[in-house]
Amino acid sequence: MGLYTTSYLILEPKTELMKPIGITTTVPIEVLLSAGYQPADLNNVFINDPNPERLINIAERAGFPSNCCSWIKGIYGVCMEHGIDTILCVTNGDCSNTVMLMEVLKLKGLRAIPFAYPDEPDARRMRSSLQALAESLGTTLEAADRVKDKLKSCRQLALELDRLTWQDGLVSGLENHLWLVSTSDFNQDSTRYRHQLGELLVECRKRQPYPKDWLRLAYIGVPPVYARELYPHVEDNQARVVFNEIQRQFAMPQPGDSLATQYCHYTYPYSIFGRVKDIIREIKRRRVDGIIHYVQAFCHRGIGDIIFRNTMESPMLTLEGHDEFHLTQHLRTRVEAFLDMLSRHPRSADINQEVQQ
Ligand code: SF4
Repeated sequence: MGLYTTSYLILEPKTELMKPIGITTTVPIEVLLSAGYQPADLNNVFINDPNPERLINIAERAGFPSNCCSWIKGIYGVCMEHGIDTILCVTNGDCSNTVMLMEVLKLKGLRAIPFAYPDEPDARRMRSSLQALAESLGTTLEAADRVKDKLKSCRQLALELDRLTWQDGLVSGLENHLWLVSTSDFNQDSTRYRHQLGELLVECRKRQPYPKDWLRLAYIGVPPVYARELYPHVEDNQARVVFNEIQRQFAMPQPGDSLATQYCHYTYPYSIFGRVKDIIREIKRRRVDGIIHYVQAFCHRGIGDIIFRNTMESPMLTLEGHDEFHLTQHLRTRVEAFLDMLSRHPRSADINQEVQQ
């Protein structure tokens, strides 16, 4: 099956009138676009760099500790290397490390704009967070809502790609990951994203579907640092990822009738129990046989593994990643052992233990 991947503009504003702005996670980009900014997801720039280790080294030479998450260090390295001068930093609803990253960026003379998701997905509070962001950037919520309408077709295409993945078996887990994770900034050009993805969907519909007897997996947790090797390795073992949890959330599967409702339905910033509800529903709908839970070294979200293991019945393999961007032999073996266990007990919902080394 041919592999289509997304392409990335590295911090090139679409027109001279668009001002580049770095983002540290999925944020309400509709507000940024309506204010004349072109968002660039710094995580995507980092992970698609031909030499991401170099970006981590930049951060470590600046004093970031070795036991700091690689994504944070990579974001810092991108900011320094690409000379980004304006960054939107999420101070609530993403990562506690971002708060201190923001302070360091300010120290370096960058303009770091804070944005806080409300503690709970409450539409009124979400609206006032969006309003404050819009005012700080010199735009209005009404203008941002109009951008939401313009992005609707891009989001719909991304969700159609997702449907073709799990329902029709025509899209690989890696393609699904790449195109959904890119909806955080639409690869810095939503027009090009729509065009390229539209062409890919036409191509996908001509493919032969994956074999029906392959194992069906869910991938939950933050995006992996070794995505380009993990998904193909799973497929080399007659299994495929049919659900990329957070990546799908980036595409806003429940857009609602306003920006405020859209970002309330987005599960990532709020209580993990909202994510659990979404994951359980999708696991059932997509007939998932097993779950891979990815945790990033030194990330507070890894503690959520306790909750996932206590709330989900499907067998679960927890994988950790740090600053190695390829799948080590140790990880390959663990994935293979997990898939072997699933294949000998297919569609069993009562095994919830990690395969030991
Ligand atoms: S992986 Fe965890 S620690 Fe790292 S940036 Fe994301 S939320 Fe923060």
